[in-house]
Amino acid sequence: MEDYIAALTEGRILMGAGPSDVHPGVLRALGMPIIGHLDPELFEIVNHTKDLLAKTFETANDFTIPIAGTGTAAMEAALINFIEPGDKVLICVSGLFGERMVDIAQRCGGDVEVLEAEWGKIIEPSDVERALSKRPAKVVSIVHAETSTGVLQPIKPIADIAHKHGAILVVDAVTSLAGAPVRVDETGIDVCFSAAQKCLSCPPGLAPITVGARAMEILEARKTKLHSLYLDLKALHDRWGHHRFYHHTAPVNMLYGLYEGLKILHDEGLEASFQRHELGGKALRSGLEAMGLSLFAQEAYRSPMITTVWIPDGVDDVRVRKHLMDNYRLEISPGLGSFKGKIWRVGLMGRSCARENVMLFLTALEEALIAEGFSPEQGAGIAGAREVYAR
Ligand SMILES: *Cc1c(COP(=O)(O)O)cnc(C)c1O
Repeated sequence: MEDYIAALTEGRILMGAGPSDVHPGVLRALGMPIIGHLDPELFEIVNHTKDLLAKTFETANDFTIPIAGTGTAAMEAALINFIEPGDKVLICVSGLFGERMVDIAQRCGGDVEVLEAEWGKIIEPSDVERALSKRPAKVVSIVHAETSTGVLQPIKPIADIAHKHGAILVVDAVTSLAGAPVRVDETGIDVCFSAAQKCLSCPPGLAPITVGARAMEILEARKTKLHSLYLDLKALHDRWGHHRFYHHTAPVNMLYGLYEGLKILHDEGLEASFQRHELGGKALRSGLEAMGLSLFAQEAYRSPMITTVWIPDGVDDVRVRKHLMDNYRLEISPGLGSFKGKIWRVGLMGRSCARENVMLFLTALEEALIAEGFSPEQGAGIAGAREVYAR
């Protein structure tokens, strides 16, 4: 079995929508012997992890913790704790993850209004202003980097509008945290969440969340008992704060991994990480366009972490992705919803965001496209990317 997993995983390069490649230092940390989950030493590790997470979110919020679960668990926690039955909620939807937030908010009894933008476009702040002027809400929520479309949404104007109308702003920073500036305090985000497996170079299983003062007030003033025990933020706050009681068994080794991943991130430096992603995204887009392909996401709002590109006419989605996997052990993601078979989603997140990956992918894609009868000019892709890296 050991050999089977070793052979299966060797040399894989994850350039899809997540998980992304895990740093070898994180893999080593994950394999360390387990200690008790109420061991005082584990609380030390978690305290350091909380500090590193606050540094990553760029917040002074005391309430900044990793939730045991994937990004969706944090998304659920970020909504259900602040929405009581009948509460008015405005959710901005421009892709799959916005739709998921609508589903969650409706399940906990929120009176949900949906503000939609076409997939591939941003939510216009003026539309949020119009919606809240007509119908104020207690909670506004939005996705920072829509992984389904490759759009990076400006958050600051939305935060200002939400606050002007007395709402708190919940932001999904699952693919943006550590890849592009989130800056929770400066931006004025009230509740922000992420996941370990995108730009933090860890495996899936932990999901950071941070809660600001305005949102804490709502939490304190809650009238109805939360229907979820596991995702009760007040209980989780106590569990990782001073009380340190048993709430659920902490995923000890996952916590080692996240701690190590965050240490590695801050050794590189947060700003340096943003720059690496910015440059990688630019190089990849430049290479794709040089090959004659068209990008999907709205210009000027393209996410460095996930690049979306139209599949040329006559080229088969599945065959190309199989070519990349069989010949280069390289994974990219298909389009979602009505864009399945129409676009590809190429991730450059965390450890996966490296020059050699950009170059390898462009080389491999050229070969796969030629096999499909689409002939880009030979070497145009890597030349386009190299030009950006050389600047
Ligand atoms: C991946 C992702 C999620 C969901 O995270 P899971 O870890 O799959 O539960 C939520 N939002 C965005 C924007 C994502 O990219």
